Amino acid sequence: MSGPSGAGKGTLIGRVLLRLANTVLAKSATTRPRRPDERQGREYFFLTQAEFEKRIKVGDFIEYVNYGANYYGTLRSEVEASLQSGRNVILEIELEGARNIRRRMPGAVLIFIAPPDFEELRRRLKERGTEDTATIDARLARAREELAAQKEFDYIIVNDSVDKAADELEKAIRNALKED
Ligand code: 5GP
Repeated sequence: MSGPSGAGKGTLIGRVLLRLANTVLAKSATTRPRRPDERQGREYFFLTQAEFEKRIKVGDFIEYVNYGANYYGTLRSEVEASLQSGRNVILEIELEGARNIRRRMPGAVLIFIAPPDFEELRRRLKERGTEDTATIDARLARAREELAAQKEFDYIIVNDSVDKAADELEKAIRNALKED
């Protein structure tokens, strides 16, 4: 699952996880600084750059990217065991990661979460208050690129109302699982 920072991926994923049995969210690793409301090992495994690079070398990541000034990556250990035991795994990742997953795991379903419009995205990022102005600007620039790539995705969900978008997302996932 991808979509620009501020599109509301986290909220929507939280909603559908409550409704979908047998589905888990893979926890990523990152070198970005922990925000005050985040906990080590809950939102992310927060690693130093040296730790992250060591884990790249030993092959611990299915995919990883540089986003802003930081690494983000999907841990093999968060995905493979769950898939093998028959669970569905959601990845919440940015565009390059989604493209890499599609190449490496052709059965993956790609879902794009879009904001209602660009101005709304700017407003949400500012309101969230977790990033400084330079980071927000960088994220908005990246958001333009991500929005331009929507067509590559199997499903596009516009998050204009959380309730409606959560229903649509649940439907899309159930539909995708049926096609397996
Ligand atoms: P944030 O710093 O807001 O938590 O995340 C920034 C971006 O990194 C978001 O678009 C998020 O989906 C993406 N991201 C989080 N984890 C991963 C990952 O493991 N791999 C990739 N490629 N992107 C990730």
